[in-house]
Amino acid sequence: MEQKGYVLGGMAFLLMIPAILMIITFADMVKTGEESVSATLQSDSAFFAVNDIEKNAPIITTDLIRETADNITLTGIPLTNSRLTIKSTLQEKIDDFTLDYTGQTGIDEIKCTVLKVGSSPDPFKIEINYNIYIKKGRIVHNETITQFIDISNKHIPDPMPFIKLKDFGIPKRDNNAGLIIYDSSLFDFLNSRGLENAVVYNNSTSPLFINKCPYDPYISHGNGDFSSIIKNCLYVKYFHESSDGACFMCKLEGKATCPHYGMETFIVPSVSHNSSQIKAPCSSDHVIFNESTYPGTEFEYYREGNDYYNLFLDDGHRQKYGLPKY
Ligand SMILES: [Zn+2]
Ligand SMILES: [Zn+2]
Repeated sequence: MEQKGYVLGGMAFLLMIPAILMIITFADMVKTGEESVSATLQSDSAFFAVNDIEKNAPIITTDLIRETADNITLTGIPLTNSRLTIKSTLQEKIDDFTLDYTGQTGIDEIKCTVLKVGSSPDPFKIEINYNIYIKKGRIVHNETITQFIDISNKHIPDPMPFIKLKDFGIPKRDNNAGLIIYDSSLFDFLNSRGLENAVVYNNSTSPLFINKCPYDPYISHGNGDFSSIIKNCLYVKYFHESSDGACFMCKLEGKATCPHYGMETFIVPSVSHNSSQIKAPCSSDHVIFNESTYPGTEFEYYREGNDYYNLFLDDGHRQKYGLPKY
């Protein structure tokens, strides 16, 4: 009994550790809270302004990225330096936003300077970096802020195919289906480069909006009966992280590949009515749109009667997504 009690004492101590940690964290929170409370008391409107800019900068950036990409899907004209262009337009929009603060709130001076817009280690985020300077009476607040803006599930279209196919008839957008409709443009583009069986991409489609695939790790795409996971990934239309595919900032410049960590998606060929095991350009978008397009072999992910739904994949991509090797 005595021994048991001793063991329980040890257990009780272990149980107390989270409680001790919580108390320490709470004490720390209270301390930080006090600091910001006293600062807020000194200048509530200045701190409200900083918080408001921090809250709105991501929304302004997302809207700007969407507007820019939307415009490219209409014109097919790339940005020559996406980082500089987005940075200067973002500066204009932020200036409009901060203008509301001057005068109204007793703030003498407010300046938010955009320092940098660029790709981030997560390809589904854009990094922005800006400095906020606020002067109110004797108080000066100066702060540099870095934010990673999510561009996934924000109705932001992939601009790259529209730029690449400008001279072959700009593809159509199906906003409801979330698809890029290639009609004959992609076939003409591939055929003009003399690529074997380019015809499988006549009437092909690919995802329109940047939506990050939730099937992680990617090797799990091969799971499920009758290729149900990869089928669902294609049906819902997702993008995947890829060191070979372009980052979003470079996509705005019409690049299919770039030195940054980027993304890739599948270009889905039109339905075939026979199952001939042919080779055709690999269905990964960065392979299709890059100068060095290489072939892939047929991978049937779905069949309905005489309709065969195929992708064409090389061994590298089959391995990445856990699909059977050819
Ligand atoms: Zn996927
Ligand atoms: Zn890039």
